[in-house]
Amino acid sequence: MRQVGVLWLQITGGEPTMDRDFEGAYRYAWLAGMMLTISTNGSLLWRADLLRLFRDCPPYRLVISLYGASEASYEKVTQRRGSRKAFQRGMTAARAAGLPLRLNLVVTEASANEADAMAALAEDWGIEHHAYTNMTPTISGGGEPLLAQSGAHLRQRKPFAGCNAGHTFFHADPHGLVSICKVGRDDQIDLMAEGVDGLLRLGAIADRLMLRTGGCEGCALSGTCRVCRPLAKHYQEAKAPLHSYCQHGEKKETVTS
Ligand code: SF4
Repeated sequence: MRQVGVLWLQITGGEPTMDRDFEGAYRYAWLAGMMLTISTNGSLLWRADLLRLFRDCPPYRLVISLYGASEASYEKVTQRRGSRKAFQRGMTAARAAGLPLRLNLVVTEASANEADAMAALAEDWGIEHHAYTNMTPTISGGGEPLLAQSGAHLRQRKPFAGCNAGHTFFHADPHGLVSICKVGRDDQIDLMAEGVDGLLRLGAIADRLMLRTGGCEGCALSGTCRVCRPLAKHYQEAKAPLHSYCQHGEKKETVTS
């Protein structure tokens, strides 16, 4: 990644801060000049080693997920007793250290009645926040996240207007397998085996993955579709209700082929 001049690196998970390789990878990337964003549940941000790391090598941003305002709803989502207290402990330390925080408010059926309370909490703390309401299927096409959504909070997505995935950014999994983004993972490039030259194939892979193939082939409504083709594929594999992602579910029209 350093060789190809990556400027901004977002490290996600699972929970990256608990990985024993996190500090080494983070420090290496920071020393290579990358802007670093970490997606975390915040539960370990009280740890002295992490606070020291972020003091020595400041992140661009720490994006922390908030799963509920109360302990009951938070832990209903995480399925971990004590997780709300751990989050609070991490938040207290991170705020005291002046770390650059942003909160993702994860609004599900379990926390729907606390959406306003979660936003109020973020505002009390003076932290920029964003509510996530629309879940997507898992990358293996599992529909479980869709069942956790709060129907009352679902938002209509804007029409998909193109994306630079595979052209100006890419995704790498923990094994160094690179794809155009975290949604479209077909045709992975083995970065460790092929080296940076392998990345030259990403643009062509991206262009192919964006074609309206499969269940979307010949669709007359694709110009106003709200999901990219790789995401539509996950919904189709998850056998999600049509209205949750496709205009044909809304308009009761048929696909022309
Ligand atoms: S509207 Fe439906 S069928 Fe048409 S491109 Fe979008 S997801 Fe595919």
